[in-house]
Order: sequence, then structure tokens, then C-alpha cells
Amino acid sequence: MTTALITHPACLKHEPPPGHPERPARLQSILTALDGDEFRALLRKEAPEVSLDAVARVHDRNYIEEVLSEIPSAGVFHFDADTAVSPGSREAILRAAGALVLGVDMVIRGDAKNVFCAVRPPGHHAMPSRAMGFCLFNNVAIGAAHAHAVHGVTRVAVVDFDVHHGNGTEAMFFSDPNLFYGSTHQWPLYPGTGRPGEARPNHIVDMPLPPGAGSTEFRQAFSDTLLPALERFRPDMLFISAGFDAHQDDPLAQMRLVEGDYAWATQQLCAVAERHSKGRVVSTLEGGYDLAALARSAKAHVQALMAA
Ligand SMILES: [Zn+2]
Repeated sequence: MTTALITHPACLKHEPPPGHPERPARLQSILTALDGDEFRALLRKEAPEVSLDAVARVHDRNYIEEVLSEIPSAGVFHFDADTAVSPGSREAILRAAGALVLGVDMVIRGDAKNVFCAVRPPGHHAMPSRAMGFCLFNNVAIGAAHAHAVHGVTRVAVVDFDVHHGNGTEAMFFSDPNLFYGSTHQWPLYPGTGRPGEARPNHIVDMPLPPGAGSTEFRQAFSDTLLPALERFRPDMLFISAGFDAHQDDPLAQMRLVEGDYAWATQQLCAVAERHSKGRVVSTLEGGYDLAALARSAKAHVQALMAA
């Protein structure tokens, strides 16, 4: 069965102010990398706009209204110092979340075995009623909630290897033992959550790693802790918050991963999905801010999805 690539040109039209690291060129570099011959087998789909009812499963209605009403007709509007929207953001935000919903529908229907959503803005910092960290709507949580509510998928897992802790996803999953959130991230680092030694329920697995941590520490955290916890959870469906900013070339953090680590992590996660989830994996882009490293990492990730 095939791997699907879901994206939309509107995701290039979300334009934070000049100099902002979360820029349209990020997505363009990934799409160019995925245009090569070795990706000809990808099933390519355009992301639809998400319904607001699907968003409202994880965000407060007032917050959804606030986000959409603050989108300016010219210039930018800042939700905080990091998080800004431009005239093109409305469609980008709706299609980024819509990609996850379509991705879920496709793997459940059997149209694809797994999916990579090449979308922006990212989502994993978005809280139930607050935009932060470049994120407006929590794309991966919207996908997980859709799988549960519409398709009756009971046990849903999100594994997040972005260098930042996905505080928004964790907050949305924290009180529901059928929702697993597992994260490797640099600590200390923005947003400051997911710190060592915190008490957490069994379905929340945070693996903070120190600045300078590389392949060895990352793979050990995966192998010793995250993957065994995921095996015990036995997910019916697996999502990946695929941020590539733990790469050694990334300017926003100090971890030292290379492309091969993303291929390895993806293989490991697909193997768990094979055992428990009929191979069903929906992955979505989060961070990654060095354009060349981002393109190579996303390529390695998608190649591993295609080989699964
Ligand atoms: Zn990040």
C-alpha cells in the first residue's frame, strides 16, 4: 500500500513578518525535495479546509473565533512575540488542520497505509485557548480527535520528536488515558514544559534531553523508554509530530541529530504501528528551521514511511 503526501499551496501564504524562522521557504524546500524521482510513488492529495466542528473537539469555540477574526486584511497581527498571522493565514490554518483530517480518513479507508502532511503553520504548541510558539490550531490533536470521534478509534498515540516539547498536545491529552503523548525534546528550552522529574500519568511520556544530545542519547531515550511505553499502550492509530529542529544544523536549538536518526525513529514507529495499529501512521510537519537540513530530514522521514 502507498504513502500519501497531503499539502496545499495555501500553506505557503501564511506569512509571519520578515526574518521570522517559521517562513514559507520551509515548506517550499520540503516540497522541492519530495519532487524527485524516488518519490514518484507518493499519492499526492490537496489538503481540504477543516470544519470548525472538528477544530472545536480540542479548542474552545471562543478561541477559534478569536483566531479567525484577528486575521488581518493587510500586514500582520501578533498573538504574542512569536506567533503572528497574515492575510493568507486563514486558509493556511484551515488547510493545515484539514490535512490531518483527510490523512486520518485515508488510512482508515485503506486509501493509503501512511501519510505525511507537509503543512504549516505547525500546531503542537497550540493550547486549547491560546496561540503560542508559531502555532494557531493544534493540527495533530485535531486529527487524533477526529479519528476518535468520527471513526471510533479508541487508543490514539502521538509521538513528537520535534526539539521543543509539544505542550499544547500534552495539555489536550493529559486527562484522557486513551490518548498517549510521547516526546523527546531538548530541555531546558522553549516552552519550558516537559521538564525532568515531573509526575506524569503512564500515557504521558516526556524524555527531556540536554543541549548537545545527539544520536546516541536520542535513540536510547526512544529504545529504553518511549518505544516500550508505546508498546504497552497498544495504539489503534499512531500520529507523528515530525519536527526536524533537533537536527545538528538547526539554528533554534542545540541537539545534534542527523537525517539517519529521523529515518531510524520513523522505522521504529512504523514497526510499532505494524504490530498494533495495522500500520496506520499519520505524520505531520512541526518545526525545522535550517532549510537544507529540513529538506534532507523530511526526505529521510518520508522514505522510511514509504518503505514501511
Ligand atoms: Zn520545534
